[in-house]
Amino acid sequence: MKKKPFVDKEQIEKMAKEYPTPFHLYDEAGIRKNARELKEAFSWNKGYREYFAVKATPNPFLMDILKSYGCGYDCSSLTELMLSEAVGAEPGDIMFSSNDTPAEEFAYADKLGAIINLDDITHIDFLEETIGHIPETISCRYNPGGLFKITNDIMDNPGDAKYGMTTEQIFEAFRILKEKGAKEFGIHAFLASNTVTNEYYPMLAKVLFELAVKLRKETGAHIKFINLSGGIGIPYKPDQEANDIAVIGEGVRKVYEEVLTPAGMDDVAIYTELGRFMLGPYGCLVTKVIHEKHTHKEYIGVDACAANLMRPAIYGAYHHITVAGKEEEPCSHMYDVTGSLCENCDKFAVDRMLPKIDIGDYLVIHDSGAHGFSMGYNYNGRLRSAEVLLKEDGSTELIRRAETPADYFATFDCFDIAERLPKK
Ligand SMILES: *Cc1c(COP(=O)(O)O)cnc(C)c1O
Repeated sequence: MKKKPFVDKEQIEKMAKEYPTPFHLYDEAGIRKNARELKEAFSWNKGYREYFAVKATPNPFLMDILKSYGCGYDCSSLTELMLSEAVGAEPGDIMFSSNDTPAEEFAYADKLGAIINLDDITHIDFLEETIGHIPETISCRYNPGGLFKITNDIMDNPGDAKYGMTTEQIFEAFRILKEKGAKEFGIHAFLASNTVTNEYYPMLAKVLFELAVKLRKETGAHIKFINLSGGIGIPYKPDQEANDIAVIGEGVRKVYEEVLTPAGMDDVAIYTELGRFMLGPYGCLVTKVIHEKHTHKEYIGVDACAANLMRPAIYGAYHHITVAGKEEEPCSHMYDVTGSLCENCDKFAVDRMLPKIDIGDYLVIHDSGAHGFSMGYNYNGRLRSAEVLLKEDGSTELIRRAETPADYFATFDCFDIAERLPKK
C-alpha cells in the first residue's frame, strides 16, 4: 500500500515559518480515531483499559488526549511517574511495569496509588522492605522462556529476554504475595515486539488465560486483570499490512470465552499497555534538505539526525520517507539520506529509491510518533527538536519547544559556562 503522510507541502511550508526544522509533528485526528477504535475493539470486556506506554511518547499534551478515551499510563521510571501525576493520574490510573527497579521508584509508585507489576520474585521482599507492606492489588510479570512462535514463524525470543518470572516462580510469587495480604492479582507478559499480525494478542491471551486458570486453581488467588502489555506493531514498510484492531479484539474475546468463561473467570479485566500502536503512525519527523553530496554514493544531507530519531541507526529500522510535493513523481533516484552525526550509522535511509531531491525540499520521515522523539539523545552536542501538534481544525500548537544550548549546558552547576563566553 502507498504510504501517504498526514501533512502536505503547503502545510509544511507554513509550519516551517513558525517552527524551524527539524520538528516532530503529531496528528490529533489520527490519534483520536485510533484510540476510539481500540476502545471499541475491547468494549466486550467490562473492565478493559489501555495504559498508554509513556516511554513511547512522553508528552503531557498527547497523554491528555489519550486520557479522554479512558487511557491510564504505563510507567517504568521516576520521571514517567511524575509526568503521569502531572497530567492528573489518580490511584489506579498508573501501571508501574518496571524492571531492575530502584527503591525510590517503588516508593513513589506506591504513593501515587499505581498498580505495581513485579518483574521478579525477589522484588516481593524488596518492595515490602521499601514501602513497609504489600499492596492489596499486585501484578506479576511472566516469561515462559523459549521461543514465541506463530505456527512456524518465530515472533520473538522470550528465553533471551531479561524480563519476568519463570512459570515456577510466578506460582511461588502468588503464594507468597497471598500470604502477605495481597487480595487482587494481575498477570502481565510482553513476549513479542512490533508484531504485524492479528494473531499475536490472541496467542498471548491463550497462554496467559490458561496460566490464570491454573494459578487460580493452585493458589486460590483472585485474578483481577490480565495485562497483554504492548507489542502490537505498525506497518513501517509500504508492503506491510496494518493490524486490524477490531479483528484482534474479537480474537482475544474468542479465547476469553474458550478458556476463562468456562472456568468461571468471566470477571477478569483485560488491560493493554500499547505505545507504538497508539502513536507511531500519527507522528512524523519533518526535516529539510540542506546538502547533496556525490562521492562513492549519492547522499542527501538533512537538518535532522539520529539524535532526533534513533531507530534507523540502532536497529537498522525502516522509516518510510516522502519528499513533500513530489508524492506523485517516480522514485527514480537512489540515495542515502543522512544526518550530521560523526557516526556512519546516522542514516535515515540507505540505498532508498526516491524522487529526485533538491536542496530546500522538505522530507517527511514517517511513523516517528512512538519511540521517536523519546529515544532522542545529545550525542555530538546535538539538541532535541520541537514537538508540534497538528490539531483537528488544521491549526498547530507547539507542545514542546526545541532544546537550546542553555538546556544542554544546564547540568554544569559547577562550571558557569555563560560566565566564560563572551558577553553579547
Ligand atoms: C515498551 C513497553 C510497552 C509498549 O511497547 P510498544 O511496543 O510500544 O507497544 C508496554 N509495556 C512495557 C512494560 C514496555 O516496556
